[in-house]
Amino acid sequence: FMSEVPLPEVNIGLVGHVDHGKTTLVAALSGVWTDRHSEELKRGISIKLGYADATFRKCPECEPPEAYTVEEICPIHGVETEILRTVSFVDSPGHEMLMATMLSGAAIMDGAVLVIAANEKCPRPQTKEHLMALQIIGIDKIVIAQNKIDIVSRERVLENYQEIKEFVKGTVAENAPIIPISAQQKVNMDALIEAIEETIPTPERDLDSPPLMHVARSFDVNKPGTPPEKLLGGVLGGSLSRGRIRVGDEIEIRPGVKDERGNWNPLFTEVQSIVASGRFVDEATPGGLVGIATKLDPTLTKSDALVGNVVGHPGNLPDVLTSFTMEVNLLERVVGLDEEMEVEKIKMNEPLMLAVGTAITLGVVTSARDDIVEVKLRRPVCADKGSRVAISRRVGSRWRLIGAGIIR
Ligand code: GDP
Ligand code: MG
Repeated sequence: FMSEVPLPEVNIGLVGHVDHGKTTLVAALSGVWTDRHSEELKRGISIKLGYADATFRKCPECEPPEAYTVEEICPIHGVETEILRTVSFVDSPGHEMLMATMLSGAAIMDGAVLVIAANEKCPRPQTKEHLMALQIIGIDKIVIAQNKIDIVSRERVLENYQEIKEFVKGTVAENAPIIPISAQQKVNMDALIEAIEETIPTPERDLDSPPLMHVARSFDVNKPGTPPEKLLGGVLGGSLSRGRIRVGDEIEIRPGVKDERGNWNPLFTEVQSIVASGRFVDEATPGGLVGIATKLDPTLTKSDALVGNVVGHPGNLPDVLTSFTMEVNLLERVVGLDEEMEVEKIKMNEPLMLAVGTAITLGVVTSARDDIVEVKLRRPVCADKGSRVAISRRVGSRWRLIGAGIIR
C-alpha cells in the first residue's frame, strides 16, 4: 500500500471567465474523486465540500520542469516520486451571476490560478472581474494558466500572450508567470505545478491563537427519511485562518441565527468529528477545507444556511457588527461591463453589496464623506477591525465591483 499523503496545507483558488477550463484543470491535477472514502459520513462530507485536493510531487531523476508531477511513479524513470505538499483547490463559478459566490470563496484562498482561454480575446468581462476581486481581497500570489493551447495556432498563443501581458499591466498580477497549457490534454501540467510551487508558497500559520474558521459551506448529511434517533448533527465546511479546532471542543458560531424578535444569537455546540481530505482527523488546522460535524440540529445547517459565519472557541471570536465604518478605496472604472463606466462616489442611503470574509451582506450607507463610509447591515457580520471588504454596487440589473474597504 502507498503511504497516506499529507493533509492539504494551502488553498488555491481557480478563477477566470466561464468555460475557460477551471473545472477541467482541477480534474487534471487532482484526478477523479475515487471510491476509496467509502464510509458514509466521510463520503457525504467530502462530496458536499465540493473541493479537490492534489498532492504535488517531484521525480528525483528528472530535470525541472519535467520533474513536477502528481503521479506516484515517474512515467519516465519508473521510480517513486517525492512528495512536495498537498494543496486544496477552491473552484469558482465563472458566470457573472455568481460573483458573490466567487467573492465568498476568495476569503479562504491563499493564492489563485487565473485561467484564461487562448482561443478568446483577453480580457473577457469575468476575467477582469475576478482579477479585480483578487486584488481587492488582497490575494497577490497568482499564476496565470493560458489554457486551450491545443485548439489554437502557435501565432495565436503568442498574440494572446501579448493580450494577457497588456491586461495585467499595473495590476496585482503584473509579474505573475503565464504558463501555456491544455487542461483537457494535460499538456504542460509539470510547468504549471512548478509555477504554483514557486509563486504560491504555504503561508506561515498561526497555530497558537484562538481558532477562527470561515464557514464556506454548511449542510445536512442525512438522507431524507432517516429516523430521528439516527440523525447526524449539522456539518460546517470551511477553512481555518488561525489556531486549531479539535474533536470534543466546545465551539461558538457567530453571528448565528435570527430569532422571532429579529435579534441575532450565536450558536453553541460541540465538535463530534472532523473530516479533512476524505479522512477523519482529530484536529483541524489552517490550510485545506475541513468539514466539522456538530451536535447542531441539521435543519440549521442545511443548504448553506450558515455560510458567512465564523467558528471558534466560545467568547474568543471577533465582535458581531450590525454596522461599521470603513475606509474606502474606489476603483476608477466599474468592472465586468463591456463598455467602460466611471465609478461615481458612494452616496447616502445607497445599498451596497459587501463581502466580508465568506459573508455576503447588504449594507445601506448612513454616512459618506470622502473615503470614509458608514453602513448599516441587513445581516450582521463577525469580523476583526482591519478586515477587508469587497464593495459592489447595483449597476443596471447586476451587482458590480466598485472598490475595497477596510473596517475601522
Ligand atoms: P469552467 O467554466 O472554467 O470551469 O470550464 P470547464 O472546465 O467546465 O471547461 C469548459 C469547456 O472547455 C469544456 O467543454 C471543457 O472540456 C473544455 N476545455 C477545458 N480545457 C480545455 C483545453 O485545454 N482544451 C480544449 N480543447 N478544451 C478544453
Ligand atoms: Mg467550472
